[in-house]
Amino acid sequence: MNTIEQNVHSIEDQLGKSLREAQRDRVGLRVVVVTKYVSIEQAKEVVSLGYKDLGENRPEGLIAKQEALQDDSIVWHYIGSLQTRKVKKVINRIDYLHSLDRMSLAEEIEKRAEKPVSCFVQVNVAGEDSKSGFSPDEVMDFIRSLAQFERITVIGLMTMAPKNADTQTIRKTFSELKQLRDEVQLLGLSYAPCTELSMGMSQDYPIAIEEGSNFVRIGSAFFKNTTVDED
Ligand SMILES: *Cc1c(COP(=O)(O)O)cnc(C)c1O
Repeated sequence: MNTIEQNVHSIEDQLGKSLREAQRDRVGLRVVVVTKYVSIEQAKEVVSLGYKDLGENRPEGLIAKQEALQDDSIVWHYIGSLQTRKVKKVINRIDYLHSLDRMSLAEEIEKRAEKPVSCFVQVNVAGEDSKSGFSPDEVMDFIRSLAQFERITVIGLMTMAPKNADTQTIRKTFSELKQLRDEVQLLGLSYAPCTELSMGMSQDYPIAIEEGSNFVRIGSAFFKNTTVDED
């Protein structure tokens, strides 16, 4: 059995190693704790340990956590595929959207958001059928076509590495996303500064950090082998 605190120690150890390897500072790295599988109590504990960025992938889960935690210092990240009809429910409750993956979603955000939303454009770098997101060669055109959207700011790109891939494949996926990020950034679009990279999950965050990620999305590594309090 582990405690969340023990898991935090191993994660921070690993983060320290990967950051040193990449000659980067901890302050430049945002750790989004993905709480989608865990209880409100577990989410509270991770917040009490100093993590203020929380990630959810379903509207119901997001709203339940927000209402239970009632904490204005928490920064909320929506990380999963977002159905068009659910946009209205969540878009004004979140600080970051990591999954802008289609034009119809952008259009609905434009209609429903009360102020500009910080978005990551999701890219399916490895071209997997099971994953949503733009293929790398669609990204530029998509971002250019957002010029008239007043409620969308493209702050960066997001990807997921293929599951159970070898280190080399994972590294290649991440480095391709970074290269694409650099290309978008060079366009100098005011609505798409595209300075950020959202990549790296429990299985592969060390590689993502070495490849330049500054938003890692980590869930199971925080909560593995801990019990859920149910009484
Ligand atoms: C669930 C999820 C994560 C976290 O995954 P872990 O393997 O538990 O770290 C990160 N990003 C997205 C998009 C997810 O859906």
